[in-house]
Amino acid sequence: MSFNIYNSITKKIERFNPIEKKKVSLYTCGPTVYDYSHIGNFRTFLFEDLLKRWLIHLGYDVKHIMNITDIDDKTIEKANKKGVSLKKITHKYTEVFFNDLKWLKLIPASSFPRATNYIDEIIILIQKLIKKKYAYLDDSGSVYFDIGTQSNYGKLTNLKSNSLKKGKRVLDDEYNKNMAQDFALWKAHKDIEGEIFWDSPWGKGRPGWHIECSAMAMAELGENFDIHCGGVDNMFPHHENEIAQSESVTGKKFVNYWMHSEFLSIDGDKMSKSKGNVYTINKLKGMGFSAESIRYQLLSSHYRKKITFSKRKKDEVDRVISRFFNFYNLLISRKANLIKGVSYPQEYLEFCDKMNNDLNVSGALGIFFSWMKGVMKKIKAKNISDKGLGEAWMFLSVLNDVFDFIDVKKNDIPNDVRIILKKRMQAREVKDYVLSDLLRNELEIMGWKVEDSGQGQEVFKNK
Ligand code: AMP
Ligand code: ZN
Repeated sequence: MSFNIYNSITKKIERFNPIEKKKVSLYTCGPTVYDYSHIGNFRTFLFEDLLKRWLIHLGYDVKHIMNITDIDDKTIEKANKKGVSLKKITHKYTEVFFNDLKWLKLIPASSFPRATNYIDEIIILIQKLIKKKYAYLDDSGSVYFDIGTQSNYGKLTNLKSNSLKKGKRVLDDEYNKNMAQDFALWKAHKDIEGEIFWDSPWGKGRPGWHIECSAMAMAELGENFDIHCGGVDNMFPHHENEIAQSESVTGKKFVNYWMHSEFLSIDGDKMSKSKGNVYTINKLKGMGFSAESIRYQLLSSHYRKKITFSKRKKDEVDRVISRFFNFYNLLISRKANLIKGVSYPQEYLEFCDKMNNDLNVSGALGIFFSWMKGVMKKIKAKNISDKGLGEAWMFLSVLNDVFDFIDVKKNDIPNDVRIILKKRMQAREVKDYVLSDLLRNELEIMGWKVEDSGQGQEVFKNK
């Protein structure tokens, strides 16, 4: 079974072959800590988490580096606007980011390097680029990368050569494709930036955003590594510039596989502060979203498809999440977790085939759902062997290792609720609907809502 992924640079689905057997080096562009990360950022971070979890499931030892961008145009602007130090701003939002990661159950990266701890490495890279004549110093003390030295600048985004403004310079960290120009590696200090500067061979200044990721990635993973991810907006100019400067320094291919996730919008709209639809994790928590339900909305579509996050989908998604949870509870109640010496059901292989096909999650989840429905029916009809129960537990465990849709720490359905549910099931079996309704009311009073579906009783905690 091979794992095939879409490589954004070749625009093809390719078989994944790591540099080192059974090991994966993975770099993902992390948050710019000038504000709270929003649900769009988490779409990308969750895609990367899913990729990592799937690689781990396939038996790889994954070294995952996610940087923290704690110095760039946006962080400086925010610190100046608030009249506080850069550290004060970046520490605050880094801490919130780590709490959000934990709450959303992302597996922490092997390391989270901060750009401000890599200034020496950045300066060394820039010195090498100047020495090799890929970069030059301007009159103000800023250093620029010369895109005129590159015969194939723009290979990730297929930039047309006539859109390259050779010899022109752009100081901003972010700019659009029709301004593809020499970009800043080192920015000379401006008075407005106050105390925010580092000494360098070119005088006081600070790094440009793009060189930060090249320096951290190479310091942590080496000059050539397996996978580099980000959202599609990172492709230009950030990743194009990372490739140009890294490959110019080393003369080697920088990254073997580039993977990018598509954008997330809110109820079909672009997220924007003026529309009040920038959803942070805190805001969603306040709206009653669970981590599992956010994970499902963000992970259940393919990572290369645009998706919409919607308040309206909440109830529907909560039901799906409850279905997984009920299945989990049902298997526990049948002691499926204690059955030893069993393997996976046939459907697991089909599930793996889908996941191995560039993380085809909708296909994989579709297989899981129809299999789960069949198993529920068999359990209800008391028509399942211990082997069947054990296999069900094995498959469910894989699903949860990879997607984490089940809150296994959530209190189990309490015993008194279980007893009433059992009585109610017996009442329904003998068609005593009056008693069944009375028991439903009793459960309602205890804070539990019960629904009857083809798969039996489904129970939800009332909010
Ligand atoms: P930033 O904090 O802006 O540096 O972004 C962190 C990550 O989130 C980057 O990989 C971006 O590509 C990604 N990102 C930003 N906005 C969105 C969005 N609306 N949907 C998906 N990913 C996004
Ligand atoms: Zn980056």
